[in-house]
Amino acid sequence: MRKKIVAGNWKMNKVLDEAVALTSELVNMAKDEVQNDAKIILCPPAIYLTTIKKYIEDAPNFSLAAQNCSDKVSGAFTGEISAQMLQSIGVEYVLIGHSERRQYFNESNAVLAEKVNTALANGVSPIFCCGESLQQRQNEDYVGFVKNQLTESLFHLSEEQLLSVVIAYEPIWAIGTGLTASALQAQEMHAALREHIASKYGADVAQEISILYGGSVTAASAAELFASPDIDGGLVGGASLKSREFTNIVKAW
Ligand code: PEP
Repeated sequence: MRKKIVAGNWKMNKVLDEAVALTSELVNMAKDEVQNDAKIILCPPAIYLTTIKKYIEDAPNFSLAAQNCSDKVSGAFTGEISAQMLQSIGVEYVLIGHSERRQYFNESNAVLAEKVNTALANGVSPIFCCGESLQQRQNEDYVGFVKNQLTESLFHLSEEQLLSVVIAYEPIWAIGTGLTASALQAQEMHAALREHIASKYGADVAQEISILYGGSVTAASAAELFASPDIDGGLVGGASLKSREFTNIVKAW
């Protein structure tokens, strides 16, 4: 059985008090209302990880993810945060390859492969983000483009390593735009990615990998998306900043 996951990417939002208040609300709402076995992963700005960890200690369905880590192990890389540092404060997951990192920080598939390696070497599970732009969807083999992102950043991994990776398909044209891929569009890509994984690692491994959908997910769109056979949850940006909306997304199964 694949893990059901809803991850909330707070991006560069919230000051400390707001981050703590949001976490407390989420933990209380989940305790009172969430009946399913979904894992809830909060991705706050790195500076709050240690604090937020204390607020989710008694909530076993909650985990933490960093939004990024360095591709380097350690050393003179001012401002960077290593996977080993994340591991040392008990962070279980890290977003790798979010489209904003690819776009604004020029992160290539090769650099992302290094980030995946250092995360796994330190026992931190990558949530590997992939997805095509609108231009690619309209003019190119967009499924082939996304498959290639997996090939170049993940397909050097052993079977055991790959089983620690979560994939998040996030069409760039749907991130922060209010445009959601339809459940059919998302399912088409998720099935293609699962088949691509099966072609390299076999069907049993492919069936074990959770593939999340991301791109303007709301409580209104989540149920139909999550009901699709190859969609195992969501990576949520804007709607993860509101406790009521995010909790309703978690309750969408
Ligand atoms: C994201 O940043 O990963 C994301 C999906 O954002 P939004 O939900 O706001 O589109």
